[in-house]
Amino acid sequence: MNVLVINAGSSSLKYQLMDPDTGVVLAKGLCERIGLDGKFTYKPQIEGKETLKAVDVAMPTHSEAIAAVLGALVDEKNGVIGSMKEIQAVGHRVVHGGEAFNKSVVITEEVMKAVEDCIPLAPLHNPANITGIRACEKAMPGVPMAAVFDTAFHQTMPAKAFTYALPYDYYKTDKVRRYGFHGTSHMYVSARAAEMLDKPASELKIITCHLGNGSSVTAVDGGKSVDTSMGFTPVAGLPMGTRVGDIDAGILQYLMNKYKLGIDEMLDILNKKSGVMGVSGVSSDFRDLEEAAEKGNQQAALAIDMFNYGVKKLIGAYAAAMGGVDAIVFTAGVGENSAEQRLEIGSNLEFMGVKMDAEANKCRGKEQVISAADSQVKVLLIPTDEELMIARDTAALCK
Ligand code: AMP
Repeated sequence: MNVLVINAGSSSLKYQLMDPDTGVVLAKGLCERIGLDGKFTYKPQIEGKETLKAVDVAMPTHSEAIAAVLGALVDEKNGVIGSMKEIQAVGHRVVHGGEAFNKSVVITEEVMKAVEDCIPLAPLHNPANITGIRACEKAMPGVPMAAVFDTAFHQTMPAKAFTYALPYDYYKTDKVRRYGFHGTSHMYVSARAAEMLDKPASELKIITCHLGNGSSVTAVDGGKSVDTSMGFTPVAGLPMGTRVGDIDAGILQYLMNKYKLGIDEMLDILNKKSGVMGVSGVSSDFRDLEEAAEKGNQQAALAIDMFNYGVKKLIGAYAAAMGGVDAIVFTAGVGENSAEQRLEIGSNLEFMGVKMDAEANKCRGKEQVISAADSQVKVLLIPTDEELMIARDTAALCK
């Protein structure tokens, strides 16, 4: 079976064609600048087939982007399948499923209505996801499709973890609550951790640290998310590339009054000009920060320190919340690649049974146990694979 995985943004669309059973990827790529000047990238994973890199393709809407993807996949010379019939299902990443979805679902008109109802909760993301789904429906009528939500995995959180201490009507009427994001990634790596430890997920307490440009940490107890650091929106929790993370709400009033800022300007600062970018004044990319810090840039060093400290505090908090922890998992760009940051985050936690193995930790991008043999808590590096998770869920629903 082949599943086409689609991750549609407002002006971009990532795709991957894969066999969910084996995890073998046939081709992947990216459509960028949709609605502008259209750039198309196609990377067949079969020897002898040619890669296309950011070539000009007119893509006024997502429909032309999908047409370009399908055209490349079945292309006589560089295609990886003989015809569209070899795509048995399509899996769509959908950012926000609100309280309506606690798992992936087959896409029906009723599902589309519920995803539309979630637009106010994710005004930038859900409309793009919907556009991607509609474009696929048009191009591939009759092919079953599934929606896989970023929020679904966190729907198991108890009320004490997801409720904000606001007047309760804001939850009842307006659904203002913690939703959490990166759910597909946290679910994938926590399940892989259980497999690596050869224990049923139901018997494990795991803390998953998805550390990338966007970052979140999740407490997974018995295979279920019981708390997570992102909130009503993905601006909450850790300081991120450019997002502020948790902040005293009083600061907003102080700055908005002092600098006569409107709420949109303020949120622009909190989403796009804060985080490690804001603190360092250098970059949102941790590689640049490490380089700058090595050259003596104090603010870059502070930004890295703040980030690592934030992750460490969440690990302590979630171990306390679950009454213990069996494994800590690092994943995503920083988690998979930065040995220094993993070591810093995992150090001085011997009091709670965490002992890192500095040598084993000197690796990147592959599954590896990075704690010492006598560490009570296993620390694991697990590269995330959201596309595989989406493809598997889609296959299970659409077979
Ligand atoms: P992601 O959002 O998961 O793609 O992660 C992207 C981030 O990972 C980049 O912004 C970098 O900051 C970070 N990253 C990637 N490689 C490294 C590395 N070798 N060392 C430190 N950070 C890295």
